Amino acid sequence: MTLFRSNPLLFIVFATLTSLLRSGELAASELDAAATQSPVEDQTVPAELRSEAPDSAAAEAALTALETVPASDAVRPGNVEPAVPLADAVTVAVGHAQPLSLLNATVPPGNYQRLSWIATQLFEGVPVAAPVLVVNGRLPGPTLCLTAAIHGDELNGIEIVRRVLHDINPQKLSGAVIGVPIVNLQGFRRASRYLPDRRDLNRYFPGNPNGSAASRIAFSFFKEIVSHCDALVDLHTGSFERTNLPQLRADLRDRDVVTLTQGFGAMVVLHSDPSPGTLRHAATAAGIPVVTIEAGGPSVLELAEVKHGVKGIETLLNSLGMIRKVRLWGDPEPIYYRSAWVRANQGGILLADVSLGSTVRKGDVLGTITDPMNNQSTPVYSAWSGRIIGMARNQVVMPGFAAFHIGIQADNAPAIVNADTDAVSHDEAGSNRDYVDGMSE
Ligand SMILES: [Zn+2]
Repeated sequence: MTLFRSNPLLFIVFATLTSLLRSGELAASELDAAATQSPVEDQTVPAELRSEAPDSAAAEAALTALETVPASDAVRPGNVEPAVPLADAVTVAVGHAQPLSLLNATVPPGNYQRLSWIATQLFEGVPVAAPVLVVNGRLPGPTLCLTAAIHGDELNGIEIVRRVLHDINPQKLSGAVIGVPIVNLQGFRRASRYLPDRRDLNRYFPGNPNGSAASRIAFSFFKEIVSHCDALVDLHTGSFERTNLPQLRADLRDRDVVTLTQGFGAMVVLHSDPSPGTLRHAATAAGIPVVTIEAGGPSVLELAEVKHGVKGIETLLNSLGMIRKVRLWGDPEPIYYRSAWVRANQGGILLADVSLGSTVRKGDVLGTITDPMNNQSTPVYSAWSGRIIGMARNQVVMPGFAAFHIGIQADNAPAIVNADTDAVSHDEAGSNRDYVDGMSE
């Protein structure tokens, strides 16, 4: 399959990158890091950025100076030099925006509608209808989908989708944005990661219309919504009392996915081979590039993480030329091609000595586990040098509990697999050997 021919978004993304390179707006080191797959050295990140959440107060203050452009200035064919880098890519989508047909409804250009996706039925036959927010722009362009709460206890993504969708003016949008704030409505109502049968919905994509309850829901979602997307951002948090530094999870062997990650600004990127059955795996295999945003932990709403996610997605929308809203980022964040978990070797009360974003060296003490019976404390040492990109909240743990997730800057980037022409083929045999339920999206 020739992705660029069959998928206009990919051409747009390609064109936008070309535009970026010309404009020099994206730091050369960032482009180099992504394009040549050589990791940005951690030393390029100032110490103050390593040890605190990226959305610091200073960064927020800088963000108040958002540049917005009146609709009348929207870049159209024939306009002079676009004020916003990448925006000229939208002009390749000639003609008028088309009505968007979705879920038995038609959303005219320049309109916002709330639709319903009937995921399944309750036992008494009552339909389970999840809201789907659709903004169809007045101007032509790609369709970007945002999905959240495939795991019903992951709340940050719900708020991220709400903020992004309700901040878009359909009159100023090029293309369409489809937002599904709560994919797993049944899990959400029970404050649970899982479906009522304790299946993880994000292990059943693309689904089967005659399969298990989870598989049928996955099939319906994939057919009714995902198939309409040119690209997709799936929002998650850590699981089981673990929290994640805001980061993109992406298969950096897939050129189209790499291109997508470059539109987000300076977010941490972790190379991650998607598990079979995840939405990311299934959609990417179907030619729809997907990245996952991990931000924060489950069961709570974390404002800093929400703001970080919103900022990343709005930067992507701007990069794709769909909106015109420049958000300012600090220094480029590293790309991590490897990661590893440090596990507890004793049972007891885990108290961390590090925080999300901390840079650590091999042998550093990350925390202690104290046996509440004999009062003996055991340090937890890091087996790697890198950065804390995820960690357990302070809690009672058993031996083997994955406590600290360390991003490691490897020398070798994964090789690009699809090389323009073929859909990525995932190396199932070598993937996710360390996979444990709940430790990936
Ligand atoms: Zn999740």
